[in-house]
Amino acid sequence: MAKKRVGKPVRAVAKTKTKTKSKAKAIVRRAVKRTARATKYIYFFGNGKADGERSMRDTLGGKGAGLAEMTNAGLPVPPGFTISTDVCSLYYAHKGRTPESVEAEIAVHVRKLEKAAGAVLGSTTNPLLVSVRSGSKFSMPGMMDTILNLGLNDVAVEGLKARTSNGRFAFDSYRRFVQMFGSVVLEIPKAVFEHEFDSVKRERGVSLDTDLDEQALRDVVSRYKRVVRSKTKRDFPQEPHEQLAMARDAVFRSWMNPRAQEYRRIYDIPDHIGTAVNVQMMVFGNTGGRSATGVGFTRNPATGAKEFYGEFLINAQGEDVVAGIRTPQPITELKKVMPKAYAQLRDITSRLERNYKDVQDFEFTVEDERLFMLQTRNGKRTGYAAVVIATDFVAERLITQKEAVLQVDPESLSQLLAPGFDPAEWKAIPVATKGLPASPGAASGQVVFTAEQAVKWSDAGTPVVLVRRETAPDDIHGMFVSQGILTATGGMTSHAAVVGRQMGKPSVVGASELEIDEDAKVCSMGGQAIREGDFVSFDGLTGEVKLAKVASKPSEILQVMTGELKAGKSDICRRFMLMLTWSDKYRRMGVRANADQPDQAELAYAFGARGIGLCRTEHMFFGEGRLPIVRRMILADTEVDRRAALAELLPLQREDFYGVFKAMHGEPVTIRMIDPPLHEFLPKREDLMVAVAKLEAKGATGAELEEKRVLLRRVEQLHEFNPMLGHRGVRLGITYPEITEMQTRAIIEAACQLTKEGGKVTPEIMIPLVGDVRELRDQKMIVDRVAKAVMKERGVRAKYLVGTMIEVPRGAMTADKIAAEAQFFSFGTNDLTQLTFGFSRDDIGKFLRVYQDKKILDRDPFATFDVEGVGPVVRAGVELGRRARPDIKLGVCGEHGGDAASIHFFESVGLNYVSCSPYRVPVARLAAAQAALAVKVGD
Ligand code: PEP
Ligand code: MG
Repeated sequence: MAKKRVGKPVRAVAKTKTKTKSKAKAIVRRAVKRTARATKYIYFFGNGKADGERSMRDTLGGKGAGLAEMTNAGLPVPPGFTISTDVCSLYYAHKGRTPESVEAEIAVHVRKLEKAAGAVLGSTTNPLLVSVRSGSKFSMPGMMDTILNLGLNDVAVEGLKARTSNGRFAFDSYRRFVQMFGSVVLEIPKAVFEHEFDSVKRERGVSLDTDLDEQALRDVVSRYKRVVRSKTKRDFPQEPHEQLAMARDAVFRSWMNPRAQEYRRIYDIPDHIGTAVNVQMMVFGNTGGRSATGVGFTRNPATGAKEFYGEFLINAQGEDVVAGIRTPQPITELKKVMPKAYAQLRDITSRLERNYKDVQDFEFTVEDERLFMLQTRNGKRTGYAAVVIATDFVAERLITQKEAVLQVDPESLSQLLAPGFDPAEWKAIPVATKGLPASPGAASGQVVFTAEQAVKWSDAGTPVVLVRRETAPDDIHGMFVSQGILTATGGMTSHAAVVGRQMGKPSVVGASELEIDEDAKVCSMGGQAIREGDFVSFDGLTGEVKLAKVASKPSEILQVMTGELKAGKSDICRRFMLMLTWSDKYRRMGVRANADQPDQAELAYAFGARGIGLCRTEHMFFGEGRLPIVRRMILADTEVDRRAALAELLPLQREDFYGVFKAMHGEPVTIRMIDPPLHEFLPKREDLMVAVAKLEAKGATGAELEEKRVLLRRVEQLHEFNPMLGHRGVRLGITYPEITEMQTRAIIEAACQLTKEGGKVTPEIMIPLVGDVRELRDQKMIVDRVAKAVMKERGVRAKYLVGTMIEVPRGAMTADKIAAEAQFFSFGTNDLTQLTFGFSRDDIGKFLRVYQDKKILDRDPFATFDVEGVGPVVRAGVELGRRARPDIKLGVCGEHGGDAASIHFFESVGLNYVSCSPYRVPVARLAAAQAALAVKVGD
């Protein structure tokens, strides 16, 4: 960013040839000044004024921008400075070194901070202590590192003791610092420190950390320092500026740790944006009973309810709450113990919510009854909460409908369609234990105790529930694949809760009766032992855990859609519909569904699909009793035999088409002619070979053996080395025109029948895999001939269109010629991606992960459209197609049609509609609205 801004003055200088020398000098001076401003790397905040502000998340990260904003708003924020994300890029560009010029800028800001704090780093009488915390543009809870109490050393700790007259507090802070620094910066395993800490507790006969006195904590510090010496072969660094530089670089390094990388992969966060580092004066929640630390949300992030929500711990420091080491108290209790701080906190946080027009996730510390704000950011929430909060905000006039549309992540709507348990069945099973309802949804699966096991079993198709004492960021891959997450410790803002909610994974946390022995792979719950592989189920909305396998039930919204539940009985369905109605006001593109059966079409219509964008007719061939007819058609040696089998299929296809047309209430229905290679309808070659060999071994001679031999011969004839590039799509219709004839007849007969009954329908007959206009011309002639004949026979005129899929790159590059014959195009981005990349869509799984790990691919191109490489192919298809036929209808029916990020691209090229699976229709409606709004403002 900085570099771009530098460019302007240089051009300005070049244009000033005719101007006087002094003017040119002035411009150069201004340029130099601007350059200096452009390369500002450190942003100060304190004493009511900040260099940055909330819109600077790219540069300051979310945390830095929030701290700047709160400082500017006059809120009680300890002073500090943010080292920008640009420095992180420099750190990596300089092979793990922060440039000296930046070091110098940091040194200036340390002095400024010392002045604002009225304390000096490393002072023996009045030491300044700071926190060093990561903070990227997108919050990545717990994924990167943090160091607290930095600045302490053997003399400063005595200074802290003298200043606060609290030796216990001083040494508690020091032992925390050595441990954090030791594990994060010096990379000594945490367990080594924990072992020492536990030994001291055991020797003193205490169980709580807070029971250790100053002397005991001095002992802990000495032991920790010995650990550092033995593990790193050097003493614990005593010089605070060196500590700061080492901590800063460790935070930069943590950007690339495996769990942060995994997190970014899951959430599509680019690697190149880097993290900022916030250095801030410490305030202390661990000075005694009048101090506390806590985290909270302005609304319930699990249910969206309008309630002040959060947790705190008395006499504790920052990370204790999130780490789940002690079970915190609900934030409402703070009202009783520190009423003044509580009232101030409520006031500040509601002001923040109004200011940001969004739920705030905040962190605070109370030091000797004085409140300090340490963070505010838009809170992560479940899909359920997102919809409740956005609709409440509109009702409260805090945001407009348009802002609500922009606020909700489209994926939230798909979370709302997740299943729950049948209430009667669930009630009948006794409750084994209860935990905190951290993330709603029904989870049922076999117990695993490690993330690795979760991945292994779920890869093998076993649904698993991950049971942990507490989860850590390292568990993220296991959490991702589990049906749900159950933990024994931690509160509603613990790692498992935060991440579970964000992933939309049902989660129950802090089920304190749960005793887990992760090594022995056993836990006990409600007095019963549970081993790895046993079934457990829980409800993430109530926190109830049960020892059984329980089938889940469709979501409330789905029940309304299918008519099982009255719409008026479901509050969430009302809100869901509101969101979609608002979305429809802003979207430009239509949303259709990919559906092959009448019931799917009905559901899609209920979800708001206005048209079918893809009806894969071959799916109808797999219907009950149809496969034998299809096989007869394929096995036929003569055209006469083939036509006889096709005649049997005709009424069945006609019936399906009629049902789909009816379900769509007159909206357009795109029907694609048969696409896959024919051998897909026959048994597998290897299976047939085994069956024949077995029968032969048994000495069988009858009809069964003969039938299997015939089948095997035909399968061998049809065998292809590259079926995806072989005899499929339009090539089938060209070699077997009678298939196209039968399918056209079925479509037009169904349309005539419905038209006769007074119904409305416009079938769009779609020819797949066209790469040359002559292929389309060949098929179109058949379609038109048969359609004409059928209409004549039936004495009915039915409107229909003929078009094609653009899914072969050659088709896109010759789209002008193809458009001369095609009334519409539907971009088949599955095949188009396959053929543009040359990646087999069925085999990419074997190497995709390696490609992603090696940063060759950021995303799976079959899930999220590849704008860079496949994008120009689609763009060419659109432009050439429109040039030849300006009113051509353009849509997309590949999987990308239901993916929010891809929809943005389709909006930008001006497609008329997207088509996706029925369940993705709500997501597509909202995403299309967001894309239209973004494209309008030039995003
Ligand atoms: C496509 O290729 O994008 C498409 C929709 O067709 P199919 O997935 O059936 O090949
Ligand atoms: Mg295709």
